[in-house]
Amino acid sequence: MTSPKTVLITGTSSGIGLAAAIGAARAGWTAIATMRDPGKAEALLEAADEAGVADRIQVKRLDVTDPESITACLDEVIAEHGRLDALVNNAGSAKTGTIELLGLDEVRAAMEVNFFGVVAMTRAALPHLRASRGRVITVSSVGGAVGQPFNEAYCAAKFAVEGFMQSLAPLAATVGVDVTVVEPGPVASEFVANQNLDIPALLNAAGPYAPALEAYFGLRRSVFEGAQTPAEAAAPIVDALTADRPPFRIQTSDWARNFVATTLADLDGSAVQALTKTWVR
Ligand code: NAP
Repeated sequence: MTSPKTVLITGTSSGIGLAAAIGAARAGWTAIATMRDPGKAEALLEAADEAGVADRIQVKRLDVTDPESITACLDEVIAEHGRLDALVNNAGSAKTGTIELLGLDEVRAAMEVNFFGVVAMTRAALPHLRASRGRVITVSSVGGAVGQPFNEAYCAAKFAVEGFMQSLAPLAATVGVDVTVVEPGPVASEFVANQNLDIPALLNAAGPYAPALEAYFGLRRSVFEGAQTPAEAAAPIVDALTADRPPFRIQTSDWARNFVATTLADLDGSAVQALTKTWVR
């Protein structure tokens, strides 16, 4: 009997990462469900019990902005499982605001978790993924393709993620590693609540941007009324784990596909990959 494949998922205390861990375990994988505070594992462990997959979920501490926690976690995974077959870069956080209203430190913090966290995880996991001929799946966003008002820092980080992964994909393929980015539209996770925004205070402080910010919050409320569930957004991640040849880019809903189609001609990334693969073979 072969041992189950192992996937490490970042940011599994809630939302898409939690649902992806359950989905991966249901698909027969061992899910290393990482979170920066394992004290927040209760929701995941309850969901795992309900789904009957608790024996295939292992919670470990990992903060994507803390290099020591990345190394320690990966070392443990390899010591305990002997392999890593996939990495799901899911951890991320929103950053609402515009550049005149945000401190540079806030912009840097958004890049740190949403971009450098992905880079650090991918860099650390690649030797193991080369050994297993595995894959890297990264949760980007429709904001990785379409820049959106009051999301400059967040979209810049997600654009950076997409540029990084699109560049890495043809090269990683030469050493047997598949690279995929997943672009959700609105998802009813803790994503918005986790920002703890004081909307009246933000509007008060927004000066000349106040009417635009008010309009933006109204738009966001209505768009999130049609949000996907985390399980719906996680399903394509699990498909990308199990597919023979996952595409480079996957939108998680028709809404997301239609939205990014306003800017992308190469929706699944196959045209760019076909071109750039010729550079490295
Ligand atoms: P969520 O419920 O807020 O989950 C985000 C997860 O990331 C949480 O588990 C959070 O942990 C974790 N996280 C934050 N900073 C971290 C760090 N430094 N190290 C490790 N984990 C960290 O939101 P979600 O919607 O599931 O977000 C998952 C991904 O989907 C993100 O990359 C997000 O950008 C992307 N996305 C979301 C939406 C949406 O509408 N929800 C749309 C497009 C893309 P804590 O509990 O410790 O904070």
